[in-house]
Amino acid sequence: MNIGAFGSSYIECRRKIVDSGSAALAHHRAIPHPLPGPAGEPLFCDVLTLGDPGAEAVLVVESGLHGAEGPAGSAVQVAALQILTPPPGVALVIVHAINPWGFAWNRRFNEDNIDLNRHFVDWDAPGDLSNEGYDAIADAVIPEGPDAASMARSNAVLDAFRAEKGEAALKSALKLGQYRHPDGLYFGGAGPSWSSRLVETLAREHLGQARRAGLIDIHTGLGPYGFGECLSGETPTSDEGRRAAAWYGAVAHTKAPETGYAGSKASILDGWRRAAPWLTLTPIGLEFGTLDPDAVRDAVRVDGWLHANGGRDNSAWDQVKAGMSAAYNPADPAWQQAVVTRGLEVVRQGLAGLSA
Ligand SMILES: [Zn+2]
Repeated sequence: MNIGAFGSSYIECRRKIVDSGSAALAHHRAIPHPLPGPAGEPLFCDVLTLGDPGAEAVLVVESGLHGAEGPAGSAVQVAALQILTPPPGVALVIVHAINPWGFAWNRRFNEDNIDLNRHFVDWDAPGDLSNEGYDAIADAVIPEGPDAASMARSNAVLDAFRAEKGEAALKSALKLGQYRHPDGLYFGGAGPSWSSRLVETLAREHLGQARRAGLIDIHTGLGPYGFGECLSGETPTSDEGRRAAAWYGAVAHTKAPETGYAGSKASILDGWRRAAPWLTLTPIGLEFGTLDPDAVRDAVRVDGWLHANGGRDNSAWDQVKAGMSAAYNPADPAWQQAVVTRGLEVVRQGLAGLSA
């Protein structure tokens, strides 16, 4: 498998997915986003279907929920269209760029500064969305500038919080999601977004006829470098957790306390479950590690500063966005090869699980 499946920008990734879908004779649907990308380019979520669109079993492979992580998921999708054929009775639905704005702007978040993996709250009954840990450090999470001195001042506040409350409390404060600081990081939103409405549309229009489905939601930036880990959002003893383990083998169950994941509120796995309650759904996240967790986090913090200070018009744009690419999309052929090889393995496992 060559790594030509990788694109370095949203525009290039989109060209590759559209071309490979066309070559595979996939059904293609392009859903326009209302905003443009940084070069003025139009943005789309592209949905490509291989196999019987009326199949009772459907595997959804999704990329770019966290926009900056998009190129890795896109490469797996391109490779899947190039070489995989779904088994009889199973359809493969590729959802390319569920957050096209974040993909194009090389941001983790969407056009509303929402972290979509903290966003799939039932907005009619949101429950307790407080995060007092984040409230306590909100002013320091985003540094005053991209320079080392600003970062050090900001880190001193986080270090003091860690010293008082512990490492786990700091991790939760930052990563659990927060709903009170729309300009902050890991903001979960205050109501439905373009992408959450799109999930409802896709569930109805591409999974309405299905009875069983799998979801592989592809991410980067967590775990060992180049390693692709499957994450189930349920416990190992739940029906969903058991199915995930049966299909994919070694699976980390993020709800099992011993795994040490901070977890997150209201991920997109919850979103698909709620949007398609008629399905027996087996969703997983597939995470490819890049840099160490603090380096990834700091890239997001500096990117938060950039977008609060002019974004594209700020002279630090190139430098900050290079940091985002290093954190989420390393330009390393060995890493890219590992992503494509492992990604295809997991997609094959998902298709096999549905055809069994
Ligand atoms: Zn992610």
